[in-house]
Parts: sequence; C-alpha cells; structure tokens
Amino acid sequence: MTYLDIIERTVAEHSDNLKSVADTIWSFAEIRYEETQSAALLADELDKAGFSVTRQAGNIETAFVASYGEGNPVVAILGEFDALTGLSQQGGATRYDPIVKGGNGHGCGHNLLGTGALAAILALKACKDELGLKGTIRYYGCPAEEGGGGKAYMAREGLFSDVDVAFTWHPWDENLAYNARMLATNQLYFTFRGTSAHAGFEPHLGRSALDAVELTNVGCNYLREHIIQDGRIHYAITDTGGRAPNVVQAQAQVLYKVRAPRMDQVREITERVKEVARGAAQMTGTELEITFDAASADLVPNVSLARMMHREFEKFGAASFSNSEKEFAASIQKTFSPEVQARVAKRGKILSEDLNAFQEEPTFLHGSTDVGDVSWLVPTGQVYVATEAYGTPPHTWQMVSQGKSRYAHKGMLQAGKVLAASAVQTLMDPAIILAAKAEHREQLGGESYIPLIPAEATPQRLR
Ligand SMILES: [Zn+2]
Repeated sequence: MTYLDIIERTVAEHSDNLKSVADTIWSFAEIRYEETQSAALLADELDKAGFSVTRQAGNIETAFVASYGEGNPVVAILGEFDALTGLSQQGGATRYDPIVKGGNGHGCGHNLLGTGALAAILALKACKDELGLKGTIRYYGCPAEEGGGGKAYMAREGLFSDVDVAFTWHPWDENLAYNARMLATNQLYFTFRGTSAHAGFEPHLGRSALDAVELTNVGCNYLREHIIQDGRIHYAITDTGGRAPNVVQAQAQVLYKVRAPRMDQVREITERVKEVARGAAQMTGTELEITFDAASADLVPNVSLARMMHREFEKFGAASFSNSEKEFAASIQKTFSPEVQARVAKRGKILSEDLNAFQEEPTFLHGSTDVGDVSWLVPTGQVYVATEAYGTPPHTWQMVSQGKSRYAHKGMLQAGKVLAASAVQTLMDPAIILAAKAEHREQLGGESYIPLIPAEATPQRLR
C-alpha cells in the first residue's frame, strides 16, 4: 500500500466521525480563549487515537499539544477551532437567520480547520505506523486565532521550539497551495476616563471621554495619509460611554488595530497612534489608559514547501460536488452584494472543483494570521481548500450557514489528505526539510523573531 492509499483509507474510515466532530464544534461556536468544549473534543479524539496529549499547553487554558512517536524530525499540524462574535446563524439557510441574536458563529470555518487538521494527523499516524516512518508527529490545538494571537502566546511559551516543519490549511472558496505574505498586526485598547456632568446645567464641569475617543479617531484618520502604503489602521468603539446625550460621558473606549508588512513597521505606527490618543486625552482633560490586547507576526512564505504541497494536492485533485450541492451553493451566491455577485458571474464559478496553478512568486494579502508567529520560527506550509460557494466573503452569516454543508465536509476531508501527504513526504525525504529550512533562513534575512506581544501580556478573552 502506498502512502496515498493509506491516507485515502484512513480518512474514509474516520469520515463519519470527523464530520460529526466538525458539526459539533460548529454548534459550540466558542470564541477566543473560551473554546473549552471544542478543544476538549479534539484533544479527546487524539487521546483515543493513541497520542499523548498535553492539555492547557503553555498554561493557555484552551491550547493543547498531542504528540506521537519520538525523535527527529518533528512535524507539526496546526488546528484552529475558534468562532466569531455576532455571527450566530442557522446552518443550511439561504437568508440571515440567527440562532441566537448577537450570538457567536463559525464565520471563518475554523470548525472545519481544526477537524481537517485532525483528519490529517490521523492519516499521518497510520502512514507512520504502516510504513515504519521515523520521527515525531504533533497536532497543535491553537486557540484564539481570531484577534487573540493564540499561536503568538504558544510560540512565546516555546511550544514550537523543537519543531522542524509545520503544516496547516484554511477553508476557502478555491483550491490552492498558499504562497503569500500577510501583515503583522497589533491591537490595543484606549480607555479614556473623564468627569460626568449634566450636559445642560453644568457642561463646563464635564470632561468627555467620548470626545477623547472621537478626537483619537479624527487624529488617526489624518495620520493615515502619512504612513506607508501597505499600513492599515482600523478601530472599533467598544464603549461609547452610555446612550444618554444629556450626560457628559465619563468613560469611553476604542479598540485599535494596526497592520503593516513587517513587525518593526507595526511597532512604529503603533507608537504614533498612541501619541494621537495621548494628544486627545490632553485636549479633553481626560485620563488615558492603554491596554495591550493581541498581536501577531507577519507571515513568512516558504515557496519550496508550498510547491511540494501543490504536487501532493495534484495527486488527490480537488473534490467534486453533486448537483444538489451546487444548487445550495448557487442559492447562497444569490445573497451576496451586487459587487460580489458581479465578480462571481465574471468567473462563472459555483463551487471550485479545480486546483489553481501554482504561483512561484509569493503574493501579498492584506490580512493577518497568527500562523505568522509560527512561520517566523518554523518553515510553514499551507493549502487553502474549497469548502464554500465561490465568492463567499469570510466573517459573514453566509459563511456560517455553509459550515455544516456536505461540500464543506468534502473540502475539509480533502484538506486533511493533502496535509497528511505533505507531512508524510517530509518524514520520507529529509531533503525537503533541509531545503525548507535553508529557504526559511533566507526569507528572514538574518532577523530573529521578536514577538509583538509584550513580555508581561497574557492571553485575553474578548471583553
Ligand atoms: Zn480564519
């Protein structure tokens, strides 16, 4: 039996259970650092499969590491399982229909991500056992990808220190070996405290924290013009100070997110944003408290790993979908904005059944991921696999609605196979890891990993 046969057989054997695990995590819909049930479910599966499992790895409540085998090389598969706030949605619906108003939902498909990674490690273990492959294989249960920087904390705790190579994937609307850079990011709260007063009788006694928030935003909106092109500044007002206009708001808060291609650029822009907030406090006579929230490093591409993953993906091909699956996907597409529908119509795609050509030159995506922190320490390879209607915008109810669909399951299992095959390759051929490491050194250009999270910071749940 070849490794490809072993992978196909193992994933088929486990497929019913894997689908049910993914659906259960979808129902838990636990957000950053609250993923206790989701992490326990995955960790239990790995326990049953004969892995030695460290729960609360690195003292992070919902992180875990499951290990099998011994010695070198050490090959890691990364799994995520966190949901997003405000995205509660019935599965299989073609209109916005929350299960719980304001509740959480899997708007980025991480129920599939973590479970597809589980499929991969189970198939990898079967290959290791049956083909007598040497080395250590690990599943990293990585919490809080969505704005929580889970992997950055895991990296800080040294959990990846002996890993030779890491693989992961992401649910997407196309099939590709991912070869791209992404932005480093830093997130911090500005909490302003002023003095409350009757806005009619005694406004001169009030010092408005809401004014300070607004002035911070005005200042940063001017600052935008004077930062690098690829820099990004976003904010969300997390506390407006109340709903009464006749009360001077004594407390208000805004959450800032700064992004840039490199960590040092993020540091520089963050300092300037902080100065703006300090200026706003001075202008309004309020006190400012700055609290770090989360951060992640930029993503370091590894072309040699991506190329190898593309070849493994070719061996399995992309999943194909039935007419009824395409019908549901098409009805989801009809709910997209006119702009997205126009883009979808241009491509004429419902569900992607082909593998994109490999891009030799890394592209640039203006998003961020905490996979970035791992990629600074370890050569990291990723594939993106079609689990959703073409054009589906991430972090939307449409994404949640498709998260338990038959085609989402198919894509998830396909991802598991490709990850397993890629990892098997690294166990069979040491030259792959050597090449990946040589390229990794080159990509870093002598820089070492200095995480954006401050030394004293701890993993934070969403406030
Ligand atoms: Zn995601």
